Amino acid sequence: MKRSERAAVAFGSNLGSRREHIRRALNAIRNLPDTRLLQRSELHDTEPVGGPPQGRFLNGVVTLETSLSAIELLDALLAIERAEGRQRTGKDHPRTIDLDLILFGNQVVDRDRLQVPHPRAHQREFVLQPLAEVAAAWKHPVLGKTVGDLYKQWKRNHRK
Ligand code: ADP
Ligand code: MG
Repeated sequence: MKRSERAAVAFGSNLGSRREHIRRALNAIRNLPDTRLLQRSELHDTEPVGGPPQGRFLNGVVTLETSLSAIELLDALLAIERAEGRQRTGKDHPRTIDLDLILFGNQVVDRDRLQVPHPRAHQREFVLQPLAEVAAAWKHPVLGKTVGDLYKQWKRNHRK
């Protein structure tokens, strides 16, 4: 029997029918081989970060149990993005669906094509907030803090 890992995948959409893209992408994730959907966060309507002026995002996070490897899961997520009509027009441009692999067990991967934990996740409220809803106790293998603590830290650093 293949070993399975828990994975956290962040999703976001700000182009076209946002809910519909998210619904179909999550359905495709649910149907991946050797993969089970565990939890889904709330959907959060968020301000775009960086890039040209563009519409607001709907963001959230799902957790999965999978016996795919991290790179197999990434390739599957990129294929789902393509199936939802994702075009790579430029960095931080609007997108029908963005699927980012945030955490994969306590594995650390640092390749060109895949960095896990996602290197910017802990700086982004649109990832941390939904991630904390479904995985507050998960310890970030590089930063050594739980997701809940990382989100508290983000809020302390961004207090107005
Ligand atoms: P972003 O999500 O930063 O806006 P893209 O979705 O356009 O950017 O992704 C660009 C590339 O980032 C992908 O082709 C993928 O190979 C790479 N990448 C590296 N690490 C990750 C990760 N943890 N999750 C998703 N993509 C990643
Ligand atoms: Mg992405």
